[in-house]
Amino acid sequence: MKSTRKGLRDGDLFKDTYERLTCADCEQVLKTKNDPDNVFDIRTCPDCSTQYKDLP
Ligand SMILES: [Zn+2]
Repeated sequence: MKSTRKGLRDGDLFKDTYERLTCADCEQVLKTKNDPDNVFDIRTCPDCSTQYKDLP
């Protein structure tokens, strides 16, 4: 799983005008899943289901 930072760098993600992380392919704002087992949140595209880890 890529980090959101790497996704942004690779052009898989971009930030919309409200600074929300958005999937570049689907132009869908990523959903956040808070996983209590992990120190980071999982960000998921609702369209293509690609997951990114949102490192602090
Ligand atoms: Zn997508």
